[in-house]
Amino acid sequence: MSEERAIVHMDLDTFFVSCERLQDSRLNHKPILIGGTSDRGVVASCSYEARKFGIHSAMPMRMAKQLCPEAIVLRGNATTYSKYSNLVTEVIKDSVPLYEKSSIDEFFIDLTGMDKFFGCHQMAIELRQRIIRETGLPISFGLSTNKTVSKIATGQAKPNNQIRVFKGTEKPFLAPLSVRKIPMVGEVTYKSLCDLGIKKIVTVQQMPMQLMHKVLGKNGLSIWKKANGIDNSPVIQYHERKSISTERTFDKDTTDIKKLKSITIAMAENLAYQLRRGNKLTACITFKIRYSDFQTYTQQQKIPYSSLDSSILPVVLNLFEKLYNRRLLVRLIGVRFSHLVEGGHQINLFEDNEKLIRLSLAIDKMRERYGDRSVISAAGMEAKSISRWNPFSGEPPPLLPNRRR
Ligand SMILES: [Mg+2]
Repeated sequence: MSEERAIVHMDLDTFFVSCERLQDSRLNHKPILIGGTSDRGVVASCSYEARKFGIHSAMPMRMAKQLCPEAIVLRGNATTYSKYSNLVTEVIKDSVPLYEKSSIDEFFIDLTGMDKFFGCHQMAIELRQRIIRETGLPISFGLSTNKTVSKIATGQAKPNNQIRVFKGTEKPFLAPLSVRKIPMVGEVTYKSLCDLGIKKIVTVQQMPMQLMHKVLGKNGLSIWKKANGIDNSPVIQYHERKSISTERTFDKDTTDIKKLKSITIAMAENLAYQLRRGNKLTACITFKIRYSDFQTYTQQQKIPYSSLDSSILPVVLNLFEKLYNRRLLVRLIGVRFSHLVEGGHQINLFEDNEKLIRLSLAIDKMRERYGDRSVISAAGMEAKSISRWNPFSGEPPPLLPNRRR
């Protein structure tokens, strides 16, 4: 028999807005929009005062400004948010034995077994109070026996509050809520559920598991489990990772510039995809080249925090052009992204290019569904060895065949 788990989900309330308000209290109680500030931008985060006008994140900035012309529009600052996120992480790290940082403003904490000493609910309450006291940031939590129910509970608790769902009451807690509240249900899945007449979680609870499986496939099965409060996924201990890199040693030294460029692009694309899957951004790109005489050159360039191909690839290619200048055979090339921070998609939204952001999201969805190499830029076609390894999940990397034998 397994022990009853105690899983807390903590989520900072309108995190970017709260950070801005710490820096300028005149922003309190006002409608605030954060994101790309030009007309081509997208809302990355907005205050509750702005939500009253029907504004939500990922909405085009142009539309948000029309809905609420008096809103204050700010371009997000990833460095500031990263700093506050680290402050909160430090408090959590100092207070609990096992935690997972799932995004810049979200944490899962496993308190299983701690109740013998203190009481998990009390520990969660005290941790929340300590975060508010020490960082000044409002935060909410949900406590239950698993990650899904706790995350949904946090959403119900917001803003600046907490909810505990007792063991055995998961199903009645979830029943009246919209299926949209299930973490994996996005806009598209929600639409197909509505088409089937499924709006509330209770409807899923009343359906046989096999039917959901039949209608929506594997996705349906996992929605059914979540709707019924079933989720055994573990809290995975967070390890900060400051860089990711990849390199390729050629089995035969080469001067084939087309091939070199192509592999460079493929490596950069793959690293950027890994960043996005891990909800990370980079602010520093390094390119490395080693010639057949073993002379090695590296050069790096700082960029605004990003994980978008459209921001990263031109920089990598520029570094390639700068470094590839000797008339010698090339033995190795490598790409490294460093100065990594959490933030992922939300911070990419600070870019003023809605189209590129949406394109990147669409491509990643296809990769999730059909495999990493299903969508690659034409220029990156040459490189074949791309891994499915997620460097941020805490698992060891697979051995990549660096040199073809
Ligand atoms: Mg949040």
